[in-house]
Amino acid sequence: MPFTALGLSTHLIRALSQRSYVAPTPVQTEAIPAILRGADVWAQAQTGSGKTAAFALPLLQHGAEISRSSRRNTPVLVLVPTRELAAQVAQAFSDYGQYLTRPPKVITAAGGVSINPQMMALGGGADVVVATPGRLLDLVDHNAVHLDAVETLVLDEADQLFALGFADELGRILALLPAKRQNLLFSATFPDEVTDLATALLTDPVRITI
Ligand code: AMP
Repeated sequence: MPFTALGLSTHLIRALSQRSYVAPTPVQTEAIPAILRGADVWAQAQTGSGKTAAFALPLLQHGAEISRSSRRNTPVLVLVPTRELAAQVAQAFSDYGQYLTRPPKVITAAGGVSINPQMMALGGGADVVVATPGRLLDLVDHNAVHLDAVETLVLDEADQLFALGFADELGRILALLPAKRQNLLFSATFPDEVTDLATALLTDPVRITI
């Protein structure tokens, strides 16, 4: 099946062709149409499955279609467990979105580096914020980012978010988000705490197992 059959725009497919992606991976085939129609997703997917593009492509397309009047809202928030993953995911959004009429403003908000450049970068808002939980809360406390208009929350490598001890931070962040939003949860494994979170977080999700 080609990417066009999943409903992705030619601007996105151009970026994929350049990276020699010929066809979607199984998680992309299932997740992309579901995310495009606004559904919640419960996905069991490993690193290497193509999970990043599975959520980044439809969210980029969605953002481009509704052409948001302002970036102040942080419409897409991606929470990841490590700064390395944050950098990779942010790069993927930028790369895939490079040919959109309005390429996305993507901000990485991860610890281990000074907070000041991130606060500056967030000035005027962003289309996509890719964050580790602790640094995101620091930025919230500095009033540098507002989460009350997030439209889509992605939890990437949710099992690692718990394994690295981010349960409390996650709870604080979830409490700051609007009740009505799209939620996408990707995890390689589903220990009880991840299953409990998925059950609480997701509304009538499309379930994907790779
Ligand atoms: P991920 O599982 O998101 O970490 O992606 C694993 C690797 O697969 C990354 O290097 C992607 O660039 C690559 N990739 C993702 N989707 C495709 C695809 N449809 N065709 C070929 N490579 C892909």
